[in-house]
Amino acid sequence: MTESRFGEVLDRAREGGRAVGAFTCYDLLGFEAVVRAAEPHRAPVVILVSPSSFTAEGGERLVRAFGAAAKSTSAEVLVQLDHARDARLIERAADCGVDTVMADGSKLPFAENLAFTRAVAGSMQPRGIGVEAELGRVEGHEDEAGETLSGAMTEPSQAEWFANESGADCLAVAVGNVHGCYSGTPNLDWRRLEEIRGVSPGPLSLHGASGLPEGDLRWAVSLG
Ligand SMILES: [Zn+2]
Repeated sequence: MTESRFGEVLDRAREGGRAVGAFTCYDLLGFEAVVRAAEPHRAPVVILVSPSSFTAEGGERLVRAFGAAAKSTSAEVLVQLDHARDARLIERAADCGVDTVMADGSKLPFAENLAFTRAVAGSMQPRGIGVEAELGRVEGHEDEAGETLSGAMTEPSQAEWFANESGADCLAVAVGNVHGCYSGTPNLDWRRLEEIRGVSPGPLSLHGASGLPEGDLRWAVSLG
């Protein structure tokens, strides 16, 4: 298996007790803001492209532009197709040069999610493209800042098996985190996160972080 740059960046961050920020960008101005914030900290960043941006007019060109712009920064910048549920879309993004893809099978039953993720990992990793998976379901919409209740939580008992068998570089967890705005004070299930961390060998990711207080973010990173 070819090591992906995504996997390497995440492993390095983990060794240093840090997380890697991932930010949805819709144009080069948004990209510029993220990169300018990252450069002075020498922090690696992931630029997320949502499936709706990618499939919109000019979406492929946008991904190629991000990839080209990433080469002219001093920060380590990776471009990811976020929350992709369609293998053909993932293939198209790979052809446009993304560094990593999120194979989002979170709406599928466990076995189908595993099979989908495994298939994506099988086709992406030989090309050096990283893969993020999702177990449980982070509710809400990445492109719309609506109020959201949390979805199905990640089961720690499933996380170990999934992490080992899926071939994904990184596993997105649902521990009370949501995309968009939290309906009320966010209340993450820390115990669940600790349990998932305890059984999962690889990096974990926390979606919906922009609505969390800074203290929660720090605590989540400290828990891995
Ligand atoms: Zn997300």
